[in-house]
Amino acid sequence: MEQRQRKNAVAPAHAEPQLCQINQHRVLVVDDDPCDRKLTARILERAGYEVVTAENGARGLRMLAEQDIQIVVSDWLMPTMNGLEFCETVRSIESVGFVYFIMVTGQGERERLSEAFDAGADDYLIKPYDSAEFLARVRAGGRIVELESRINQQRRDLCKANAEMSMLNGKLQELATTDAMTGLMNRRRAMEKLDELFGIAARYKLPLSCIMFDIDHFKGFNDTYGHAAGDAVLKVVAKTAADALRSTDVAARIGGEEFLIIAPNTKESDAESVAERLRKSIESLAVQYEEHTLRVNISLGVAGLSTGVQGAEHLVKLADDALYEAKNGGRNRTCVASSPTPKNTPEMQAI
Ligand code: GH3
Ligand code: MG
Ligand code: MG
Repeated sequence: MEQRQRKNAVAPAHAEPQLCQINQHRVLVVDDDPCDRKLTARILERAGYEVVTAENGARGLRMLAEQDIQIVVSDWLMPTMNGLEFCETVRSIESVGFVYFIMVTGQGERERLSEAFDAGADDYLIKPYDSAEFLARVRAGGRIVELESRINQQRRDLCKANAEMSMLNGKLQELATTDAMTGLMNRRRAMEKLDELFGIAARYKLPLSCIMFDIDHFKGFNDTYGHAAGDAVLKVVAKTAADALRSTDVAARIGGEEFLIIAPNTKESDAESVAERLRKSIESLAVQYEEHTLRVNISLGVAGLSTGVQGAEHLVKLADDALYEAKNGGRNRTCVASSPTPKNTPEMQAI
């Protein structure tokens, strides 16, 4: 058990400082000796500090939890919880945040000062101390507290800015990949997705199909009913296509009135059935727009993986060729790509 040296905390030679400006920091003085506690508190109060006091470490911890305290001046030798244990505990409680800790020691602890710093103290004073020096050290602590709080504020601002930035990035990403009118993927994102799905299909020898479709005589439709009516129909067509698909299928608007459906794990013959079903759904749509009941047809081209398909772009080209055939064949119909010239490219040997 450490023995307490009885000595006044403040050297008597120095006059007490004059009351100066109101200080914004609250100081906790922890000392088991009522005289020392009172004396230290008085010096601080006269210097404009708000002061709270505690007679031991355990009580000091409670005050730190309950009050907004920035600076702690703690005696080393105290019963129940000494200054070292108190300091270590303060540093281990995250919710306390940063407080500037000044350890007050007797001459007897001088040799053990490194222990105080290891426990987390920022500064020390040896009794009896000079009140002017004591206040200078408290002021220095106040500056550190201010710096720490500014750094913390900057850290919080940075976190907030980061969160806003990542939200904006998400929005930008969405804008860059989504067609604003229909909410479907745009061409760029659809081609990325197709590349990705083509890679998976090639690797695991899975089927993959594409359906390209285009609204028939849409120019004439716009000329008759107006562009706004055309937009209304485009949205309904897009929604009908999206609703008709499985969750793993992808629908994209890749041009003005041109759409692409990517159907992973789907054979060409199954994709043809999907296409026909969609054609019929759209044929039977009656879109009410102002005084008009609007109807449109679509033509569709289907292409699946088969020997010789060289990549995602090639698959889309085959679906586009089939769509062209459907247009030439009279529109409002589905055509399936004829097998391209066999070509043993490395990625297709796996399929
Ligand atoms: P086809 O049957 O051969 O496809 O004939 P089409 O008239 O549909 O084809 P064409 O390529 O000549 O015209 C496409 C039309 O689609 C012209 C354009 O005004 C219309 N279009 C493209 N994008 C939009 C859009 O965002 N809104 C509206 N309302 N119309 C659009
Ligand atoms: Mg068209
Ligand atoms: Mg077109």
